[in-house]
Amino acid sequence: MKYVMIGFGVAGVAAIEAIRSVDKTGEVILVGDDPHGFYSRPGLAYYLTGELHDKALYPRTSDDFRRMKFSVVRGQVTKILRENQTLEIKDRPLLSYDRLLIAVGAQAIRLKVPGADLEGVLKLDHMEDAKRILKHARRGQTAVVSGGGITALELVEGLIARGMKVHYLLRGDRYWSNVLDEQESKIVEHSLQKEGVKLHYHSELVEVTGRNGQVTGVRLQDDKILKCDMVAYAIGIRPRVDLAKQAGLEIDRGILVNEYLQTNDPNIYAAGDVAQVYDPSTGTSIIDSLWTPARQQGYAAGLNMAGKKTKYTKSVPFNVTRLAGLTTTIIGTVGRGKDEDLLGIARGDSETWRQLPDAIVAQSGFEVNNLRLVVGEKTLLGAIIMGDQKLSFPLEKIVTGNMDISSMRESLLTPNANVGDIVADFWTKNQTVAGHA
Ligand SMILES: Cc1cc2nc3c(=O)[nH]c(=O)nc-3n(C[C@H](O)[C@H](O)[C@H](O)COP(=O)(O)OP(=O)(O)OC[C@H]3O[C@@H](n4cnc5c(N)ncnc54)[C@H](O)[C@@H]3O)c2cc1C
Repeated sequence: MKYVMIGFGVAGVAAIEAIRSVDKTGEVILVGDDPHGFYSRPGLAYYLTGELHDKALYPRTSDDFRRMKFSVVRGQVTKILRENQTLEIKDRPLLSYDRLLIAVGAQAIRLKVPGADLEGVLKLDHMEDAKRILKHARRGQTAVVSGGGITALELVEGLIARGMKVHYLLRGDRYWSNVLDEQESKIVEHSLQKEGVKLHYHSELVEVTGRNGQVTGVRLQDDKILKCDMVAYAIGIRPRVDLAKQAGLEIDRGILVNEYLQTNDPNIYAAGDVAQVYDPSTGTSIIDSLWTPARQQGYAAGLNMAGKKTKYTKSVPFNVTRLAGLTTTIIGTVGRGKDEDLLGIARGDSETWRQLPDAIVAQSGFEVNNLRLVVGEKTLLGAIIMGDQKLSFPLEKIVTGNMDISSMRESLLTPNANVGDIVADFWTKNQTVAGHA
C-alpha cells in the first residue's frame, strides 16, 4: 500500500502516526511546500513577541520522523489526477498513490485595496510571514493593524513588543463581536489601550498609500489619513480547496468529508483546516481552524486510510489563547452572528462557537477576570474564562463531559450570583462522578 499525504502540518503528521500504528510496512510519503517543515503555527505569536525562539516551535525532532519511517518530498502539488491516482508536483516527477490525504490547511484572505501589494503590507499565515514581519518591525516606527479574531491581536501584541506604535482599526464598535460579549470585548480593548495601542472604531481601511514602493500610510473610509511604516492585517482565512475542486471532489466552504474523513472519492481523505467534516450528531458539516481538531482528524483519517475503520467524533471545541495579555479559554458554544472585521473564519476559531441556541447566560465579571457560562437545560453549552484560569480545567470537564448541572443551575441563574464560587463548589462535590478525584 502506498500512502501519500499532501501538507506537512499537524493533520498530515498525525495521519502518518496513525498509519504506522496499523501498517508497519506500507510506503508513506509526505509532500509539503513549506520550506520550514512542521512547526507550531499557534506558536508564531510567541515568536513575534520574542517570548519564544523560532527553534522552540518545532514539536518533533528528525529522530521522531525517522522512527515514523516516511519520506518527504519538498514541493507543491499542482494537480490531483484521480483517473490514474497520481499527483503532479511542481518541478518533480509524477507521484502515484493508493490512498491520498489532502491536509493542505487554510490560507489568509488577502487584503484587496489599492496599495495592498506595497512593501510593508503584511499578514501572518506561516513562519516565513512571521520572519518578514520581524524584518520590517522597527522600534519607534508606526504600524496599522486591521482585522479581527486572535491573529489580529497577535499582530498588535507582537508589534507592541517590538517597540512599535500601533493603531488598531475596528470596523464595528467592538473587538471579536461574534465570540466575545460586550464586557469581554471591553476587557480586551482596555488592556490594549493600557499597552498604548490606539483603537479606531468604525474605521475601515480603503487604501494603503506609499512612496517608492514602500508603505507611508493608510486612508480610511472617511478620508482620514494615518501615517505609518507598516500595515499588518488578519481578515480571516479560507480553506485551500483548489486542488480538490479541480479534481472534481465535493466541496462547500471546505472539502466535504464524511465521519470517516473520506471524500466522495473512496481513495481520497481530507483532514484539518481544509476539511469540512460531517457531524452525525447535528447533521451539519463544520469547519474548525484549531490545532487539536486538526490533529484528531488527521489521526482518524490515517487509521481509516490504513483500513482500521474509525469514526471521527467531533469533540467540543476548546482553545486556550491569549487576548491582549489575558489568558482566555473558550469552550463549546459561546457566541453567534458575523464579525464585521472578518471575511471568513479566523485562525484558532471554530464555527461551533457561533451556533448559540437560545440559552441563558450566567456571568461574573471583574476588571480583568471574567467568567461567562452558557447554561442549557441540563448541561453547560459553553464557557469563556478570561484572566484567572482556576476554573478552566473543571469547566472543560463539565462542558465536554456533558455533566448534569441541575444541582447548580438555579443558583447560577440567580441575579448577581457568584458564578465562580458556585462552579468551584459543584466541581468539588462532583469531580468523583467525572472521574477526576
Ligand atoms: C498565527 C496563527 C495562530 C493560530 N492560533 C491558534 C490557536 O490559538 N489555537 C489553535 O487551536 N489553533 C490556532 N491556529 C490554527 C492552527 O495552527 C491550525 O488549525 C492547524 O495548524 C491546522 O493544521 P493543518 O495540518 O490542517 O494545516 P496547516 O498547519 O496549515 O498545514 C498545511 C500544510 O500544507 C502545505 N500545503 C498547502 N498547499 C500545498 C500544496 N499544494 N502542496 C504541498 N503542500 C501544501 C502548507 O504549506 C502547510 O505546511 C493558528 C494558526 C496561525 C497561523
